[in-house]
Amino acid sequence: MNRLRSFKQRWGILGLIAIAWIVTLGVCALFGHLFTSHLNQDLKNRLQAPSFSHPFGTNNLGIDMLGLAIKGARISVLVGLAATAIGFIGGSLVGLTAAYWRGRTDRVILTFLDASAAFPSFVAAISVVLFWGKSVRNVVLVIGVLTIPVIARIVRAASLPLVERDFVLAARMQGSRHSQIIVRELIPNVIRPLLGFAMITVGITISVEGGLSFIGAGVPDNIVTWGQLIASGRATVEGSPHLVLIPASLIFGTILALNTLSSKWLRGRPFPIVKESVAETTVSANASDAAKMISSNPPTDVVLSIENLHTYFSTPFGSLRAVDGVSLQLRRGQMVALVGESGSGKTMMARSLLGLVPSPPRVAGLPGRVMFDGQDLLSLSSEELRKIRGRRIAMIFQDPMTTLNPVMRVGRQIADTATLHLGLSKKEATRRALELLIEVGVPDAQRRMRAWPHELSGGLRQRIGIAIALAAEPEILIADEPTSALDVTIQRQLLDLLDRLRRYRGLSILFITHDMGIVASRADEVAVMYSGRIVEQGSTLEVFAHPRMPYTRALLASIPRIDHESHKKLAVIGGIPPIAIGPRVGCAFAPRCPDVIDACRTEIPQLVGDTHQAACIRNVVGVT
Ligand code: SF4
Repeated sequence: MNRLRSFKQRWGILGLIAIAWIVTLGVCALFGHLFTSHLNQDLKNRLQAPSFSHPFGTNNLGIDMLGLAIKGARISVLVGLAATAIGFIGGSLVGLTAAYWRGRTDRVILTFLDASAAFPSFVAAISVVLFWGKSVRNVVLVIGVLTIPVIARIVRAASLPLVERDFVLAARMQGSRHSQIIVRELIPNVIRPLLGFAMITVGITISVEGGLSFIGAGVPDNIVTWGQLIASGRATVEGSPHLVLIPASLIFGTILALNTLSSKWLRGRPFPIVKESVAETTVSANASDAAKMISSNPPTDVVLSIENLHTYFSTPFGSLRAVDGVSLQLRRGQMVALVGESGSGKTMMARSLLGLVPSPPRVAGLPGRVMFDGQDLLSLSSEELRKIRGRRIAMIFQDPMTTLNPVMRVGRQIADTATLHLGLSKKEATRRALELLIEVGVPDAQRRMRAWPHELSGGLRQRIGIAIALAAEPEILIADEPTSALDVTIQRQLLDLLDRLRRYRGLSILFITHDMGIVASRADEVAVMYSGRIVEQGSTLEVFAHPRMPYTRALLASIPRIDHESHKKLAVIGGIPPIAIGPRVGCAFAPRCPDVIDACRTEIPQLVGDTHQAACIRNVVGVT
């Protein structure tokens, strides 16, 4: 009873009428021919108006119009469904290709779509049907092909924002193939609005078939469709308007019903809404059981060596220097923090390591190497990189809300990564996913395996992101501001977790953050970035105790301290970060630097020092 009431509430009276209409139409299309095979001429009763014996009247041959309408539903619906299927398959392929590969591929496809929009498609449909000959197949093909550009635009528009989302980037980072990303990450996320639009398209294609048949360019005359009924009734429309009005009303009613169903269906099935109310719990005691300690004193061998890395982007105003000659080393079991304001190049540097830079395309041929396990990552093919991403170098992202695929259960997301990289069977991968959930401290892990991302809090989602990153047992974890979207309690739990992982697993972590407080308490080394360059680096203790670069000092001064007076304002860095376009002249921090001297505006400071390096002219000349 309750289910019936909630069904009524969800669809409303209009929705229920629309469902009844579509169900009736479906029954007529499937079984109507069984009852209409004996429709006979009855010239004595020709052109009868609607009556009790003939609810839809009769046509110019005296045939019952109700029977003809039922008979015509079969081909009209078939044309609508088949043409829509062609349009959606073709349009989805084109739209997904444009959105996923973007850049030149997108521009070329968009040019064709624009050109097709300017093309008189109905005239083209008439011409092609008349040229190929009138048949149901030709009508379906023509309407289906002409629908492709419309669907392609919709699919492209729905997919473009998703391609930039972290869960797609995470899938690339995990080494998934393009086809796997499209099938598993993109399509499930666009299918719902597309199905809604598909309902509308079925109605539209039925009406297009009607229009073609009306002007004699549709199906052959001996095949009954609603369009054919309109066409055959137009000769007697003045005396018997019901011959045109009834089939036209059927088409109109079908479009209206499908539109209503589409809007009700989409409204009844919203995209996952993030709930933040799930209580956090502390790390499970099982976590320590699940992991084995490797060493409490991490060895110091270098696992990743970034040498003079450059990432420039072409812009209409010149090359944008997102990363401008960065060198950095990461050792086994070490956490190196990469700090700086937003826009300083931290994230771009991390993504450049693994070829994850977004469009516009990176300028090719720039100097630099990223040495990992004896090979330069920048020289690897995309297939070779794919085997390293996710498997040996994993990444977790800033926003746990966007990192996970919203339409896939979290257990499966973890298990899929284990299957992809470790070749585990489904059962083994599921067991591994459960172990990982326990290891990263997800309470009630067995139940959470079947949870959807929107059912979890931000902290739990971030733990799931870490579990996915660990699923293939990587050697390096790049953590791109993983705690900035979390409250301080959850932040601390996650940082504790990362600490344990590097101690127990020997995991090396490149930790990107703008939070100097986190750096002070967790990182072994710190590298400060400004305008695409590292301007100071060294052990955390040294940099925090004796910052040499005014920019670092300004960042440190902006940390809230418990020993400060409560009413004292935090220090801010005046001005805004520069846009690194055009040749570099002088120190990029000069316009904002309180210690600037004339030489700063002409000389480019280089990193100098041994274990503690800084790029500041005044540091070099000793003027402080
Ligand atoms: S080089 Fe000059 S402008 Fe740049 S940080 Fe040092 S003192 Fe400031």
